[in-house]
Amino acid sequence: MSTFTVINPATEQPVVDVPLTDLAGADAAIEAAHAAFPAWRAVAPGERARLLRRFATVVEEHVEELAELEVRNAGHTWGNARWEAGNVRDCLNYYSGAPERMSGKQIPVPGGVDVTFHEPLGVVGIIVPWNFPMPIAGWGFAPALAAGNTVVLKPAELTPLTAIRLGELALEAGLPEHVLTIVPGKGSVVGERFVTHPLVRKVVFTGSTEVGKRVMAGCAEQVKAVTLELGGKSSNIVFADADLAAAAAAAPYAVFDNAGQDCCARSRILVERSAYDEFLSLLQPAVTGLRVLDPADEASEMGPLISSGQRDSVRGFLDEVEVAFAGSAPTGPGWWVPPSVVTVDDPASRIWREEVFGPVVAVMPFDDEADAVARANDTEYGLSGSIFTNDLGRGLRVARAVEAGNLSVNSHSSVRYWTPFGGYKQSGLGRELGPDAPLAFTEEKNVFIAH
Ligand code: NAD
Repeated sequence: MSTFTVINPATEQPVVDVPLTDLAGADAAIEAAHAAFPAWRAVAPGERARLLRRFATVVEEHVEELAELEVRNAGHTWGNARWEAGNVRDCLNYYSGAPERMSGKQIPVPGGVDVTFHEPLGVVGIIVPWNFPMPIAGWGFAPALAAGNTVVLKPAELTPLTAIRLGELALEAGLPEHVLTIVPGKGSVVGERFVTHPLVRKVVFTGSTEVGKRVMAGCAEQVKAVTLELGGKSSNIVFADADLAAAAAAAPYAVFDNAGQDCCARSRILVERSAYDEFLSLLQPAVTGLRVLDPADEASEMGPLISSGQRDSVRGFLDEVEVAFAGSAPTGPGWWVPPSVVTVDDPASRIWREEVFGPVVAVMPFDDEADAVARANDTEYGLSGSIFTNDLGRGLRVARAVEAGNLSVNSHSSVRYWTPFGGYKQSGLGRELGPDAPLAFTEEKNVFIAH
């Protein structure tokens, strides 16, 4: 069996070799998950809820261990990695409320009684990217399992370690074998098999827009359900009436968190022209003050990029532009890029249009509210965005006008497990999280009973 060597992106040192599942292994995992499905869907709702709560407790007991794995495997800061492991626990707890609440409807019809049921789909295949390995896995498997499905999950090649550990913790918590199976392997082998194998009834894909389109086309062959969470180029819109100091202090964290490898990164900052110079002068110390350190150091606020390839790709963007100002980054081993700010005039420039997926933010002035909205919407993406203003009416108007799935006013919050998350346009299809997520893992069945 071939293996993949996981590398610590902050030190370039090998961490561990992980076996890559081949096609036969992927088929075996899918077939075992299919065989486990009838018994899992038949587990009484209260018992399935109890098992998910137990899984959450076991994750809670391993937060430090999971976080440490992510610091080493993905270069995440300790603060982020602990939050991410805690997010898996929270998702499991939240969706453990679902099995006992999957109510259907009783619909008034003539001649009988009509009721609806939310039936689980069967085997769900979840394909996870490398940028947030734990949360994105949990957003998929927690509601899918709650709704009575079995799950096969493929972590990204670069970051399989926490997913593999979560699979072990599920068994430790008492989930039956093959209900949640982690299948580490290549996208072109295991990921594609989730798409082509007829026993997988839904694919949840998070990753690049390019691969997402292929996954969607593949799913069409079997009319297979698909959820896509793809790229983004989100705007942080700062009006002159905002608390500029607060907006400037918050802006770096909205784009440089996880070294900018965040689909929700506010990688465009639009600033009202009358406040543009003042905002930039406030932004500069906030960027240069960012603590970019080896994430093994608890004080680190930003770590390295995930791979040398990602570092080179980000550098390619920076080579084309003039950097207005930048923060620091360690020299020596590790795939580092300093947090960098670029001012942009031309909305056709690559840095303004394409997802950099690195610690680079582009800043542009706007003239008025309509201009801000038009510039924010001038993109094929539509995942998230922020509006900073002291005029709440305007905040709401602009939030309604921006074509994106997740907006925040005077805040950069995007992802809360209580609320739906997903993209407009080429940022995605369908929604994850929030109260309705389990329903996305069911078929609605209608039954009519004649009087
Ligand atoms: P990627 O598309 O290269 O890979 C994502 C996953 O798909 C990996 O597990 C990969 O192995 C797998 N894959 C690759 N080829 C495949 C194929 N042919 N069939 C099936 N699966 C395949 O993306 P990436 O580089 O790992 O992640 C970065 C991208 O993810 C960025 O564009 C980012 O914006 C996006 N992202 C989006 C969200 C969101 O929620 N919208 C969240 C995180 C990341």
